[in-house]
Amino acid sequence: MSLQESKDQVAQEVLALTHLASRVGAGDPDARPALDDRLNLLRGLFRREPNAFSPEMVAALKRLSSSVPMTGRGTARRAPTETGLDRGLGRDTTRRVPTEILQSLFGYASFRPGQAEIIQAVLSGRDCLGVMPTGAGKSLTYQIPARILSGTTLVISPLIALMKDQVDALTEIGIRATFLNSSLTTAERQERRTLVKKGTYDLIYVAPEGLEGFLLEFLSDCKIDLIAVDEAHCISQWGHDFRPAYRNLSGLKSRFGDIPVLALTATATEAVSVDIVRQMGMLDPFRFRGSFFRPNLHLSVYKKGGGRKTKEDILRLVQSRRGESGIIYCLSRKSVETTTAFLVSHGVRALPYHAGMENGPRTASQEAFRRDNVDVMVATVAFGMGIDKSNIRYVIHRDMPKSLEGYYQEIGRAGRDGVESDCILFYSWSEVVSYDRFLIGMTDEPLRKKMGQQTREMFDWAEEGLCRHQSLVAYFGETILPCGRSCDVCGKWDRLAQAQAAIGTPKMAQTRPALQSKRGLPSEEIPDRADALFVRLKTLRKRLADEKGIPSYLIFSDAVLLQMAAQRPATEDDLAQISGIGPKKIVQYGAIFLAELKK
Ligand SMILES: [Zn+2]
Repeated sequence: MSLQESKDQVAQEVLALTHLASRVGAGDPDARPALDDRLNLLRGLFRREPNAFSPEMVAALKRLSSSVPMTGRGTARRAPTETGLDRGLGRDTTRRVPTEILQSLFGYASFRPGQAEIIQAVLSGRDCLGVMPTGAGKSLTYQIPARILSGTTLVISPLIALMKDQVDALTEIGIRATFLNSSLTTAERQERRTLVKKGTYDLIYVAPEGLEGFLLEFLSDCKIDLIAVDEAHCISQWGHDFRPAYRNLSGLKSRFGDIPVLALTATATEAVSVDIVRQMGMLDPFRFRGSFFRPNLHLSVYKKGGGRKTKEDILRLVQSRRGESGIIYCLSRKSVETTTAFLVSHGVRALPYHAGMENGPRTASQEAFRRDNVDVMVATVAFGMGIDKSNIRYVIHRDMPKSLEGYYQEIGRAGRDGVESDCILFYSWSEVVSYDRFLIGMTDEPLRKKMGQQTREMFDWAEEGLCRHQSLVAYFGETILPCGRSCDVCGKWDRLAQAQAAIGTPKMAQTRPALQSKRGLPSEEIPDRADALFVRLKTLRKRLADEKGIPSYLIFSDAVLLQMAAQRPATEDDLAQISGIGPKKIVQYGAIFLAELKK
């Protein structure tokens, strides 16, 4: 943001606060906490960007602060941190500023691209559309405002199965969150509603399907001051994941008194973006579009046929990555079944997942994968939407996806923790032919043409042999230089040959791959000691996670464990230096991990 833009934003905010102060004067009970909160945000901004405040604005804010009587604390439910700083902007009852929350709760030193801008826009009351690829840290952009705003943030999330994870992850770092959905018993629902009403939670997760009738009535009575819509592209029928229930969201903004809406998605073309803004009734939203280039994903492409046996290639790839989480996508349910059976018969810990399975076994498969009880999920594309598991180290496509958009979504499930991960595609023209066969008889001619074309674009991308990342992000309208080291064209590597070599030496197959694929370093450069330590830390993490009944990656991500193995922290202070470890985690797990590190 330029200085002039910051100045304009400050001036606008001061004007808004003047109105709010007059409501306080008129005795509006809700206005006071809101005024306190927003004044504190401005104080925080003033500390960071004093130049954005003209002398007039500073004077106006001083008048404003002294015109409203002091209160003990606007909102008592969160402990204020007293910094005692007051640089000419009046009393500081101090709400914490976003960077402080980022550091003190999430344990990160700085924001990733776009996060700070989106948070600032949301806190200034502006609607916002964030298009950020998976792994770019979308959820922080509403979790941090939720912690700052005085009311509760309503999060619309598409998958009920995932809500518990999201809430568990927040609870792990000390943020109060809950979910309301059909998985709860009547008694649980009642209890949560009472707490929600009291303003106990910073965030409530609900599914779009739930936003009808009774729940909507109930929420209308609560103090909601931000609506965050995850996977917002589902609202648009132009998107590849249209979900009719998202239509429940139109009118939501006005229903809650024109509070800001933050719409987030990992993939949205311009047409879909426009549709999201229109359907949500967003007003002049701030827009952020992140880069689609994810250098930690190492892309490789292999053409099937010519004497190559895909099944065996996949087996070798998986065997050389023993102990790591991976997904293998297959086109059909049948190939999911046969591939799983083949891998299992060779001692791989794999389970199938497809829409044709009974509910029970399917959920069990997903759960076993999330909890690291199996390494490999063999699945159709029915698997994965909204999967939060951050330690997926590879995605293999046994068959070619039907569009680049789909491919991008699917590989996006790997490496969400930022650690280097492999994405290996097997493709052939025969898949283009089978997709075409699906389209026969489709009456919507323009749609049929478009789908046929998408498949050809996917095939051409695989064939053309240019930098994979450069041509992939070009599809989303982004221009970058060749990646240099994150694809098989630029990096000139051959993952199949490497896998073959790795399983040729049993020792490497046991321990190396866990680290080998992570930092893009050849295995020789990874010291044995750190390697073994990483495996031990993973084992400890798994044990703690099982005791708590949560997935391992909610304790610490792979990225955190790798840093631990490399830096070997000896004290809690050392631990606090590691990116991704906040104070609550140190209290909970610091001692036990330090003990393991000392061994
Ligand atoms: Zn490249």
